[in-house]
This record gives sequence, C-alpha cells and structure tokens, in this order.
Amino acid sequence: MPQCHGGWVVVERVLQVVLACGVRLADPGEFTRRAFLNGRIDLVQAEAVMDIVASKSQAALQLAQKQREGALSMRIEEVRLHLLRALALVEAYIDFPDDDLGETDISAIQNSVGAARHMVADLLLTFEEGRIIREGISVLIVGKPNAGKSSLLNRLLNENRAIVTHIPGTTRDIIEETITFNGLSVRLLDTAGIRHTVDVVEQEGINRALGKIDQADLVLAVFDASREFGHEDRMILDVLAGSRTIAVLNKADLPRQLVLPDEGCFVATVTIAALPGEGIDQLKQTVCRQFLHSAAPDSREYVALSKARHRDALATAEQSLQQFSLGLPDRNLELLALDLRDALQAVGSVTGQTATDEVLDIIFSSFCIGK
Ligand code: GDP
Repeated sequence: MPQCHGGWVVVERVLQVVLACGVRLADPGEFTRRAFLNGRIDLVQAEAVMDIVASKSQAALQLAQKQREGALSMRIEEVRLHLLRALALVEAYIDFPDDDLGETDISAIQNSVGAARHMVADLLLTFEEGRIIREGISVLIVGKPNAGKSSLLNRLLNENRAIVTHIPGTTRDIIEETITFNGLSVRLLDTAGIRHTVDVVEQEGINRALGKIDQADLVLAVFDASREFGHEDRMILDVLAGSRTIAVLNKADLPRQLVLPDEGCFVATVTIAALPGEGIDQLKQTVCRQFLHSAAPDSREYVALSKARHRDALATAEQSLQQFSLGLPDRNLELLALDLRDALQAVGSVTGQTATDEVLDIIFSSFCIGK
C-alpha cells in the first residue's frame, strides 16, 4: 500500500528531525520505571505492564491486567501489614527487657504471623497455574507411525500444516505450532512416529521425539483404535512411563479393535476421529482441565502469582516465618524479630519496597520497548 508506506516515511522523517533537535528515544521500560520510582505504581504493577505487552493469550492478558490494577499487590500488602503488626509487638518488648512477653501478646503475634503464613501459602499454591496462564503449555504429540498424529495436529490447527499420508514415517522432524485452547496458549509439537527402524534419518527424528518427552508439560499419546494393541504401542507406553499423558484413541469412525492396557497410567483417555473431526473439542477441554483448576482468570477475585521472582521471594518469606514459629517457644526476642524482618524484606521485594537497584535494573532492562 503506497499511501501507508508514504505515511511511515513521513513519520520517520519527523522522528529524525525531532531526534536531531536533541530529543532521545526512551530506553526499554523507561516510562514504567519512572512511574515506579515516582511511587505511582509498585514493582508487581510495573512488571505487569511488560506482561500485557508480551501476553500470548486472552487468559494471560487478563491475568496481567489484574496485576496491573493492583490485585496481587493488595494481597502482598495485607501480608506485610500482618507481619508489621507482629514485629511491632516483638520490638516493643525488646525495648522494655524487664517486661515478659504476656500470653495475650503472644497469641496476638501468633495470630498475625499465622494469617501471614496462610496467605503466603495460598499465594504459593497459585504459582503453577499462574505460570501456565502467563507462559502457556507445551504439548507433545506422540504415537506409532500412521496412528493419526499429523491428522490430529491439522484438526487442532484447522489447516493442513503437517503432511498427512498413509505411508508410515512421513513426519521425520518435529513440527511446532502455537494455538490457543479456551484462552490458554498451547505450543503443539508433532513428532516422528515411534517404532523400530533402520532408516538413519527416521531414527534421528524418533530420538528427537523421545528427547522432548521430559520437557513437555503434557503428552498426547495417539493410538490407532481400529487396530489391535501391538509391540509399537507397547514401546510407546514404556517410554511415556512417568510423564503426564492423555491417551488419545483415534479412528473412532472405524470398528474398534484396540484394548488399551495400563489405562490407569494416563491422566485421562479421550476418544476421537481426527479425519472426520470428532471429539476434538472434548480433547481441548480435557487438556485445559489438566492445568486450569481454580476460578477463571477473568473472575473478579482471581489472583495468581505468575513470575518465578515473586514465587522465590514468597518461598523465602515462608521459610523465615517457619523459622519464627519454631523459635517462638524459646522467646528469644532478638531472633524472633530477625526472622520477621527477613520475612518482611522478602515480601517487600515483590512489590519493590525492598528491591535493590540491581534487581530493578534487571527487571526494567528486560522490557523490549521504551514503554
Ligand atoms: P501419523 O503418521 O501418525 O502422523 O498419521 P497421519 O495423520 O499421517 O494419518 C495416517 C493415515 O490415517 C492417513 O491415511 C489418515 O488419513 C488416516 N487417519 C487419520 N485419522 C483418521 C481417522 O480418524 N479415521 C480414519 N478412518 N482415518 C484416519
């Protein structure tokens, strides 16, 4: 479109003139960093700006928006207030060494620390789901040649990306596509059919498929339900032992011959017919159910941790609070105060109250744009 291109040329020219006047382009994350340093937003909210820009799915966007609006920050602040209350009481007694910590104060301290521990533990439990919403999942499709792996991939993608033929061994490398299932970002990997082979290229494809099993969040093991269970199917069951796998019984449009042994080792079994496209929605829902358990991310009360930095900080706080509870019977006030301060330091680092410049540099330099 020449008009559009012309528009860009004008914008570029104007930009050059402006830059020539001494104006500079914003550094990565500069505006957000300033908003943080001016106290308009905290660090969780600043990081959420980056997540909004990078969100890969509707669910990831909603989660980031909630964090940007302060839903997670409010929870963190509540934890901090409980800890501050407990610390104030402990420190009051440090200042008056002649007074003994009375039972009423001990139970007040225990209540505050107990409430904080409870909230921290609840938040830590949300991390796996939050991470998955933010980053999406990887799903590996495996099965013997001709089971219908490529047909399934095409059905899921609604296009003919993978080559479908009746000649076993057609997909020799890993085919990768990203799509969304009910708002969840899913990276699909279609692999070479697993079987014994003397073909060096095919064997390399099989090795690559096997190498991906441990890294995948979920495996879809595709079986040809119109054939009897064979030694190649057995090979697949053996290599999948211990991984989170859904058994996908394909070719349900044909008379069923397959009797699948060890069904208990799968997290679910779904029957489909990839060619005519039956059972595909049920399969997508079953995949989502493995990862999304709690309230939907678009619900009002949904709060989840989604960053390893937040998880690590809260795990550190949890350890300090555990230490505190273990030390409480000894009533060594200095040590108790130390544990509470450590916990406060860790909790405060999430929202940035106690984050060092070094940490801030790392966070803001990972912005890809001058937002
Ligand atoms: P892959 O080697 O596991 O990737 O298998 P393909 O997807 O290439 O399919 C192998 C053959 O099975 C092709 O001829 C497909 O058309 C056929 N096929 C795949 N899914 C179905 C199905 O649900 N029903 C029937 N009848 N045939 C299917």
